[in-house]
Amino acid sequence: MTVRVRIAPSPTGSLHIGTARTAVFNWLYAHHEGGQFILRIEDTDEERSKPEFTDNILAGLQWLGLGWDEGPFFQSQRLDLYRQAIQTLLDQGLAYRAYDTPEELDTMREIQKAKNQAPRYDNRHRDLTPEQQTNLEAEGRSAVIRFKIDDSRTITWNDLVRGPVTWQASDLGGDMVVARASSTGTIGQPLYNLAVVVDDIDMAITHVIRGEDHIANTAKQILLYEALGSAVPAFSHTPLILNQSGQKLSKRDGVTSISDFQAMGFVAPALVNYMTLLGWSAPDGAEQFTLDEAAQQFSFDRVNKAGAKFDWD
Ligand code: GLU
Repeated sequence: MTVRVRIAPSPTGSLHIGTARTAVFNWLYAHHEGGQFILRIEDTDEERSKPEFTDNILAGLQWLGLGWDEGPFFQSQRLDLYRQAIQTLLDQGLAYRAYDTPEELDTMREIQKAKNQAPRYDNRHRDLTPEQQTNLEAEGRSAVIRFKIDDSRTITWNDLVRGPVTWQASDLGGDMVVARASSTGTIGQPLYNLAVVVDDIDMAITHVIRGEDHIANTAKQILLYEALGSAVPAFSHTPLILNQSGQKLSKRDGVTSISDFQAMGFVAPALVNYMTLLGWSAPDGAEQFTLDEAAQQFSFDRVNKAGAKFDWD
């Protein structure tokens, strides 16, 4: 099996150090294994995605020396593929149209809140009869497409960093929206979890290496792999980069974009070296190395579970 990994940034901002560090770990693993590193731009959010951010991301990865073997692929050019997968789910009865209005969903959540329950979709449109559907459509309602989540399921995977991870499907918030609202009979804008799974299947990704903020998505995505009849890749959730007070590093902490570090005069080999050490340590204890040297020694057993503190000093 050839290892195939990917970095999948959303071009809604400049290349962030967290995304760049995820790219570093993907690159190191691909090179350690003689595999392929794929670049996919997740630009389905039309409002927030900007071409200048895509340019910034590509330039940043190149500057850091994180060249890719395939891509960039753009999700915005692959919408038909996602719609086909959604149609398959609909045809197989694994997804359905839900006609709830925003007001109805708000009321549902308020009632849940008043009862101290976690917000979730109560799957009320899961089993509509064709007649009920026709009536709702006649009211002029649009429909999102929801993927059925079997609440009785337990989802488990053996995470390469965290070991066995278990999620109860009942904690995933009810049947999940995979396409935005659209008028009768059409499929609206496909959403993140669905697009990622369709792409990772289509691109034959063997290892999904990404930040631990995606863990709940992984549980949902595993259900989608199964529904689409596809093998589930290995998952590796890498620790977040934290600020000095232990919170996720954010724009409020000052410089977080690779292009800003570049403008400040940091050199790429040093920055990439430092990012490699945010959550990983070399077996021989080395602290200075090139990407190629780190790749020779890279493995997930030396990636920490705990967040990695960014330290200006
Ligand atoms: N586009 C996602 C992000 O920017 C990454 C998704 C993934 O790696 O699966 O966080």
